[in-house]
Amino acid sequence: MAEHVTNWAGNITYTATELHRPHTVAALRALVARSDLVRVLGSGHSFNRIADAGPGGVLVSLDALPAEIDVDTAARTVRVGGGVRYAELARQVHARGLALPNMASLPHISVAGSVATGTHGSGVGNGPLAVPVREVEIVTADGSTVAIGRGDPRFGGAVTSLGALGAVVALTLDLEPAFDVEQHLFTELPLHGLDFEKVAAAAYSVSLFTDWREPGFRQVWLKRRTDQPLPGFPWAEPARTALHPVPGMPAEHCTEQFGVPGPWHERLPHFRAEFTPSSGAELQSEYLMPRPHAGEVLAALDRIRDTVSPVLQTCEVRTVAADGQWMSPAYGRDSVAVHFTWVKDTAAVLPVVRRLEEALEPFAPRPHWGKVFTMSAAALQNRYPRLADFRSLVGQLDPGGTFGNAFVREFVSG
Ligand SMILES: Cc1cc2nc3c(=O)[nH]c(=O)nc-3n(C[C@H](O)[C@H](O)[C@H](O)COP(=O)(O)OP(=O)(O)OC[C@H]3O[C@@H](n4cnc5c(N)ncnc54)[C@H](O)[C@@H]3O)c2cc1C
Repeated sequence: MAEHVTNWAGNITYTATELHRPHTVAALRALVARSDLVRVLGSGHSFNRIADAGPGGVLVSLDALPAEIDVDTAARTVRVGGGVRYAELARQVHARGLALPNMASLPHISVAGSVATGTHGSGVGNGPLAVPVREVEIVTADGSTVAIGRGDPRFGGAVTSLGALGAVVALTLDLEPAFDVEQHLFTELPLHGLDFEKVAAAAYSVSLFTDWREPGFRQVWLKRRTDQPLPGFPWAEPARTALHPVPGMPAEHCTEQFGVPGPWHERLPHFRAEFTPSSGAELQSEYLMPRPHAGEVLAALDRIRDTVSPVLQTCEVRTVAADGQWMSPAYGRDSVAVHFTWVKDTAAVLPVVRRLEEALEPFAPRPHWGKVFTMSAAALQNRYPRLADFRSLVGQLDPGGTFGNAFVREFVSG
């Protein structure tokens, strides 16, 4: 490629031969139809090669397509273009008095790219961000468009698709009435005696943070909907200063704290939309495991604290309700999600990731598709009971493997 194109973190340089930014869906269709190997690049926030097309391949960014955000207030739905990011979507949805049920920690990520990898926020009652998606429109390898909605037998594979079915040019999402959220932060939650179920259910969305230098959690972030009760949180002390999840980083990049109520989209993400991080000095990994094992998972992590902490910036523990997308890491399992923001040093981090995966192995972890992991395709096969159905859907929609990069060939085609 003439341009040196990297992901947001800069740890991946895409090796595709060409990068295109079509201005119309018609131009995208023509490009896809004449190309042998294509991958769509979202906002580039994944930490592995999932988005890369590889040598000889074509990378397509949809950020020059019209950024359609078409809210239907009566139906409470929004039709959103394939390149749109959550920050802009949320702003426009809120302006119409409506809301998405949940958001990830960062609002700068694209909608299509996020739901393609099973991206999630937190909350025992909140599934991944793919849950509100009711229909996707996909430009497939021959340049035609297929719409797959709920009720279509293919729907279970269509949203969290790893980009393997084609280029998603539009998604329709269900909305709900706008709501307000308050963030209450606490510090120093002990691991010993922790009742994870109670803590995780203490608010609409709960995140626990630690650097694993000591047992227990340095920070607890409760995001309470103001239309739901405020239960007490007797297990830790309220924070006295504004906090950033990574110790030492500026809290002014974070969404408003200290229980100040505000619109859902300005509280559910940890980071403010108006602070745009152009790149990040970090790597990330994350694993989803059945929530009933959360206590044992945390005990297993505590046992390898000394291995993990030297390369760790912060670890976040969240919950994700089960969903029905076949390739979703939360498929069919109410999950505990343990996330790691590492230092940006791949050589130092990878051996720790391997050790971490060994420690989590008894809990059948499913890695986040967009983050760093070392598990083999063979190990993951049994963890996705609908993998054969997804493979067959890929075979129907993309028989020639136009959207099958090395990542898809490894983890899907087998
Ligand atoms: C700072 C930071 C915070 C994060 N926070 C969270 C979090 O809170 N929760 C969480 O679960 N994850 C989180 N992530 C991970 C992130 O949500 C995922 O990596 C997500 O996939 C990023 O979306 P993207 O658009 O940048 O995707 P990309 O990395 O660009 O692409 C990801 C995949 O989506 C495909 N894709 C993208 N757009 C399309 C399209 N239009 N059609 C077809 N395929 C498409 C790509 O081909 C690729 O396979 C975070 C990442 C960062 C860097």
